[in-house]
Amino acid sequence: AWAAATGDRELLLAKPRSFCAGVERAIEIVERALDRFGAPVYVRRQIVHNLHVVRDLEQRGAVFVEEVDEIPEGSVVVLAAHGVAPTVRTQAAERRLQVVDATCPLVSKVHHEVRRYAARDSTVLLIGHPDHEEVIGTTGEAAGNVIVVPGPAEAETVQVPDPARVAYAMQTTLAVEEAAETAAVLRRRFPALAGPRKDDICYATSNRQAAVREIARQADLVIVIGSQNSSNSLRLAEVAEAEGTRAVLVDDAAEVRLDWLTGATRIGISAGASAPPTLVDNLIRNLSGLGSVTVTESGAVTEDVRFSLPKEVTQQ
Ligand code: SF4
Repeated sequence: AWAAATGDRELLLAKPRSFCAGVERAIEIVERALDRFGAPVYVRRQIVHNLHVVRDLEQRGAVFVEEVDEIPEGSVVVLAAHGVAPTVRTQAAERRLQVVDATCPLVSKVHHEVRRYAARDSTVLLIGHPDHEEVIGTTGEAAGNVIVVPGPAEAETVQVPDPARVAYAMQTTLAVEEAAETAAVLRRRFPALAGPRKDDICYATSNRQAAVREIARQADLVIVIGSQNSSNSLRLAEVAEAEGTRAVLVDDAAEVRLDWLTGATRIGISAGASAPPTLVDNLIRNLSGLGSVTVTESGAVTEDVRFSLPKEVTQQ
């Protein structure tokens, strides 16, 4: 397999790729909590959906749990970037946990919208994947008044108690085009539909999708680095595939199979918003072991979004 996979290649790096501001912030929160409070610092759920990030923080003393009732009373807990339902905060308070919230501000914004619509007695149609942690958390803001709508087909059939009082919101990491289609169906069916001015898909998701689409058009194979439970990473592979280019989602270079590389002389590379940039460097290094590579970056967008940290990890 090695012989067939060797050869000179062009690597097209999608720009932007890899970490977004919300993920960088969440990781920094755990690191600072460890510095400030000492290990163990408990983290409810994966801080971000990436195997390498979780392993790395585990080695530094973070303890990942599914639910807050697994955490000893009085401990420090970090809530993951995807956000939580208010019931989780109540449970944490009941256990006298010291909460540091790493919810991405762009997810909090959607929570806020949902609360606002629900306060006006609107039913909120939440476009998103029903099993995703972010959607579960957002739904919890107005349990009973939120209906999850996965895609255009469900948008065609969903029923609401009062079509005059209906709004929509979205998961932040959806496929931009499909979500727009779903919203269009809802708008057609419910003329009174209220909603966000643009959509709720975050800047990082839409920028990464646009960049990967661009490189997919030129590549024989697209390798996306990210974990299988990372919604935005999965969407990157799908967007590349939609351009008719084979795309694979891998956790790291070690998962790349040599037979995928056979005949692929132009390889597009991206990484999900939760995947560390060092994993991309490692992939490039591995590929350059198979022959000479030229690396070009493709994409016009430069991101300069930064979020401030919560006071629990910054105040003296
Ligand atoms: Fe925030 Fe978007 Fe990053 Fe999610 S992908 S953490 S919503 S910036």
